[in-house]
Amino acid sequence: MNENVLRAGLLATARSMTSSGLNAGTAGNASVRCNRGFLITPSGLSYEDCSDDDMALVAMDGSWQGPYAPSTEWRIHRDILAAHPEAGAVLHAHSPFATALACLRRGIPAFHYMIARFGGDSIRCAPYATFGTQALSDGALAALEGRNACLLANHGMLVFGTDLRRSLALAIEFETLCEQYWRTCQLGQPTLLNDAEMAEVIARFQTYGTPQAAPLDSPSTPD
Ligand code: 13P
Ligand code: ZN
Repeated sequence: MNENVLRAGLLATARSMTSSGLNAGTAGNASVRCNRGFLITPSGLSYEDCSDDDMALVAMDGSWQGPYAPSTEWRIHRDILAAHPEAGAVLHAHSPFATALACLRRGIPAFHYMIARFGGDSIRCAPYATFGTQALSDGALAALEGRNACLLANHGMLVFGTDLRRSLALAIEFETLCEQYWRTCQLGQPTLLNDAEMAEVIARFQTYGTPQAAPLDSPSTPD
């Protein structure tokens, strides 16, 4: 896709993260694959005050071009894009419910089938490390093994998808799932789905929303 289109799309996505309640102030960041590197939101700026040209263009070696420095989390974005060829865009948020769970340093078990939307039978929580460090990126990458989302201890969440639109939709689904888990835990211990139940849903999500989606069981016919 044309770089100017990607710049506009990145800024619009970053603004949507704020308007949808995923981020407040200058917390969080977003990136999209571009040329041989990626475009990323600038560090410490309000997206309302930014223009398309303020998005930083970063190469995989960390060198960058732009009027402002790239997000301090450029290593996480770079490392995810390098390790996951299917990733087209990466979003990071300090969204309220994900962050509350991350502050307990607790992953999310298979309390709901939608956990499988993120690639496995649980959501992992990456260990705490200072924001912007390679240690934080290394921990996040390990937590994302076989997954497209994770929590970051005492910090927030990460999600990636094939493009900006899908990544934003996934981030909103992820925050919703975190809220549902939080609400469930207010009532008691959730009953978890078992390995076989989750394996079936994980398989279904391979084609969910595509023309190849596996047909559901046909309704039983009366005798
Ligand atoms: P940046 O403004 O540098 O993107 O930092 C925000 C953040 O969420 C750091 O983890
Ligand atoms: Zn952050």
